[in-house]
Amino acid sequence: MAEVRFFKNYIDGVWVESSSGERQSVINPSTESVIAEVPKCSREDVKAAVDSARDAFDKGKWPRMPPSERSLIIFKLASLVESEMDSLAELESMNQGKTIKQSRDADFPFSVDNLRFYAGAARSLSGLAGQEYLSTGTSFIRREPVGVVGQITPWNYPWMMAIWKAGPALATGNVVILKPASVTPLTTIRFAELCEKSGIPKGAVNIITGPGELIGNELVSSPHVDMISLTGDTATGKKIMEHGASTLKKLHLELGGKAPFIVFDDADLEAAARGAAAAGYVNGGQDCTQASRFYVQDKVYSSFVKLLVDETRKVRLGNPLDRDTDMGPLVSSIHRAKVEDYAVLGSEEGAKLETGGSRPNSFKKGFYFEPTVFSGVEQDMRIAREEIFGPVLPVLKFSDIDEVIEKSNDTVYGLHSSVWTSDIRRAMKLSSRLRFGAVQVNDHLPVTSEMPHGGFKQSGFGKDMSVFSLEDYTQIKHVYIDITGEKRKAWHYTTYGDPS
Ligand code: NDP
Repeated sequence: MAEVRFFKNYIDGVWVESSSGERQSVINPSTESVIAEVPKCSREDVKAAVDSARDAFDKGKWPRMPPSERSLIIFKLASLVESEMDSLAELESMNQGKTIKQSRDADFPFSVDNLRFYAGAARSLSGLAGQEYLSTGTSFIRREPVGVVGQITPWNYPWMMAIWKAGPALATGNVVILKPASVTPLTTIRFAELCEKSGIPKGAVNIITGPGELIGNELVSSPHVDMISLTGDTATGKKIMEHGASTLKKLHLELGGKAPFIVFDDADLEAAARGAAAAGYVNGGQDCTQASRFYVQDKVYSSFVKLLVDETRKVRLGNPLDRDTDMGPLVSSIHRAKVEDYAVLGSEEGAKLETGGSRPNSFKKGFYFEPTVFSGVEQDMRIAREEIFGPVLPVLKFSDIDEVIEKSNDTVYGLHSSVWTSDIRRAMKLSSRLRFGAVQVNDHLPVTSEMPHGGFKQSGFGKDMSVFSLEDYTQIKHVYIDITGEKRKAWHYTTYGDPS
């Protein structure tokens, strides 16, 4: 029997159970055993977190600290994360199922860099220089935090999304209430421990766990919450918009994707096939920027499919904690069932199953699913249009550049895309015509703290990382100061009386 760990929530600087005492279980997706219990919060708990955050924003030190002081604390937080990286990465892999290679060598080091970027960049945010735009007064711009921010994170990158949300929000003086996904709350709770150690004052960071809809509705409809930020399903984003309407909530939404991966016949096909496998099976395909529609020019279609199948067969499934595992289990049995249904659907729709397509026989436990390739996929098939969010790769054919631009843009999503070609003019044309928040050339996935991540269309709005995320978590205010000292201003007569 695996040891079951008990985690608490962090509200107003205190470690607490839910007010009802109820808990929910957390499962390791590779063993299917319960590894932890966390509080199952109710409305009262959300209210307590909101009250704490409101108080911390309205009266507390954090929003009023000079950026240089907040920055030092966030640098300290980054160093604490760095020093605990091994145990955090292991916990993330046990809870989420992602490989230790990915969590220890990619997610966590990158999150440290993200925090250091936010800590530094927040000091350089500026308003506009003051000036007399009217001869009677001086105007200038103040840049201020938005206030209390409710942040709802997904289960595919639990830690990194917590950092991408809390990092820029805190660096710019906001206070946050973080709500992790119910299946993957553990590292987010540990984040609160590190925030506490770093010296972030009580109330500025609150962590609550429990059912998404209940907690989400409470945060979204609360008049004391100024902004909601979500990474999750497009359907969830729409629900949040509806609920947020009553308080006209400021929103930051990073939602679904269906990224095209476009291979022209002049591309380095071997590089493209390797890039396709890496970007298709990243995080078990559970990634909103995952390459998930492969458009290949007709002349090289068959060769590309063969190369991609060869690369796919090299992907090693296994225990996420083993360094030689390339792909762990999917995050939950519910999610695996969804992915499996799409694999069945692919054949039903008439696509050709080239490899994979089912649960591997070699695992008695765990929500594993084979890396899967379909060829002969048509634009109107559901596997080419809907977000599968798993290791199922549909390969389509195209003839010319205009056709592939039209087909790539023919989607409700607009998060990420890539183009594989050796022709720079073609690459430049696609970089302007593809309607996605990112277009990459001869690679698919690389991210950097300095560059924004976020969608067009129904992939949402608002950017993570870069100075644009810092701007999203601030608002600007016009301050005007009269410089005439006159009791009756020259313009007053337009309201009452005569000109003087
Ligand atoms: P959700 O959008 O439901 O989950 C994301 C987060 O939102 C979780 O913390 C969840 O909490 C919370 N949540 C759920 N319902 C509400 C609500 N009504 N109001 C506010 N917050 C809410 O995604 P799913 O887990 O259902 O996954 C479904 C599909 O969404 C996936 O198969 C994938 O296609 C897509 N997805 C996309 C992601 C991305 O990175 N863009 C990330 C995750 C999923 P709780 O876990 O407690 O329900």
